[in-house]
Amino acid sequence: MTVTPPRPQKISPRVTSFIDGAPIPADAPGHDIPVVDPTTEETLSQLREADAAEVDAAVRSARRAFDEGPWPRMDINARKDILYSVRDHLRKHAEELAWLECKNVGLPLSSVLWHVQRMARNFEFFAEVASTAHGETYSQTSGFLTVVTREPKGVAGVIAPWNAPLALSSMRVATCIPFGNTCVLKPSEYTPLSVSRMVEVMHEAGLPPGVVNLVNGRGSVTGDALVSHPGIDMVGFTGGTATGRAIAATAGRNLKPVALELGGKSANIIFESADLERALDGALAGIYGNNGQQCLAGSRILVQRGIADRFIERFVERSRNIRLGDPLDPATEIGPLCFRGHMERVLSYADVARADGARLLTGGRRATEPARGWFIEPTAVLAPDNDARVCREEIFGPFATFLTFDTLDDAIRIANDSRFGLVNYVWSDDLPTVMRCTREIRAGTVWVNTPLMRELRAPFGGFKESGIGRDGPQTSLDFFTELKSTIIPIDPVKMHRYGA
Ligand code: NAD
Repeated sequence: MTVTPPRPQKISPRVTSFIDGAPIPADAPGHDIPVVDPTTEETLSQLREADAAEVDAAVRSARRAFDEGPWPRMDINARKDILYSVRDHLRKHAEELAWLECKNVGLPLSSVLWHVQRMARNFEFFAEVASTAHGETYSQTSGFLTVVTREPKGVAGVIAPWNAPLALSSMRVATCIPFGNTCVLKPSEYTPLSVSRMVEVMHEAGLPPGVVNLVNGRGSVTGDALVSHPGIDMVGFTGGTATGRAIAATAGRNLKPVALELGGKSANIIFESADLERALDGALAGIYGNNGQQCLAGSRILVQRGIADRFIERFVERSRNIRLGDPLDPATEIGPLCFRGHMERVLSYADVARADGARLLTGGRRATEPARGWFIEPTAVLAPDNDARVCREEIFGPFATFLTFDTLDDAIRIANDSRFGLVNYVWSDDLPTVMRCTREIRAGTVWVNTPLMRELRAPFGGFKESGIGRDGPQTSLDFFTELKSTIIPIDPVKMHRYGA
């Protein structure tokens, strides 16, 4: 398929918050943080950080929209029409949004085009879920009818990471607002450009003011002010496990429920019984897709001993041929990492690996071609065992760690020997092997003989330290709505008349 690269778009010179249906003026005083292009290392824009007072204004706007505004009270068909209009407007701006995301995040165009489609689809899908949600009635107790209704929960603080800003911010917002909630969204301070534009476009599509407010800034300033604000009713967070832990602690002090989508160190298990050509393609896609910066990366590749040498050799050969380059070039397979500090962190794991006795198979260095930008060579190491830090810690880059195993029991034990439990991949054409894995693997998703396939109808989230809760039709409905039981007597109730 030929892909036409998006045309260059306008970048606003200063990205501000968007509160109560309008942007904060670009010349408002405030602390600025440079927004940098990871491909050229040039400054693209400035992000004006929202301080605690501005976060307070955003929460108040969301509160007003929830407590007094039309959104939670609107007929579901009218709300759905607006969400469909949001979908259509986002699709109309797909080229602009894709360009901004490639520029700011450095993700290859192929990933970004998929994220842009997902962003629009998220709003459509959860609009449908909200419009078909229903309550319950109980009439078994004679003389009474009990009606259980679902009501929106209130104002959400919604925090998103930098590795797929449009797909993940939209997911967080789309699971929340269709049920009648309002929110304050804080994207990552590294990647505000596409999400700021997404929020503007949502308002151009007819979203009422205050339903989605945007605040930009660092986690320690803007994010913390949002999570600790007493005016929010719940927190939806996608990001790292350490941050999730801090956010859950803050929210817990205020007794606010949290939904957390966190990190992973997922096993990609290749059995001798697999179709090895497909497994090889799947292993490469699993770790190098999205520049390796994905929570669901298959970053621990477990290969059965009988096929390990040849499989790893071929993986390394293919890794060396991967095309690094401008993310806007459709031929690019891996772009730059998102920011300098992240590139340095990923590269530091080459030394970590050596110190733990792992063998560097390829890469482990900053790329010399392209000469500019935060590119690293696709990297693979062979770990001595699953205790090595490269097997235990999320590296979040194009950095594959191989391990070998002998038996099915070994594979399952190693896969489960992790504090994470987000996803696992299994490659085998032997049904009993596949079934044992799907039954015994402790992870929120098991992909069998396929790379990532996101089924929006199914819940997505992690076991163990990979998260709390699930994104999905029923699970998001449960998290973002309150249940109310209304008990109505059919005939007047006989009552004891105290003091009569
Ligand atoms: P991060 O945890 O550093 O930051 C995520 C967001 O939290 C950012 O917006 C950041 O500004 C904010 N933040 C940081 N400290 C905060 C605080 N104290 N209070 C409030 N907000 C705060 O994560 P990241 O580096 O942006 O993203 C990468 C991580 O996200 C990886 O661990 C990855 O696995 C995870 N992730 C998980 C999923 C999933 O669905 N499970 C999806 C994508 C990414």
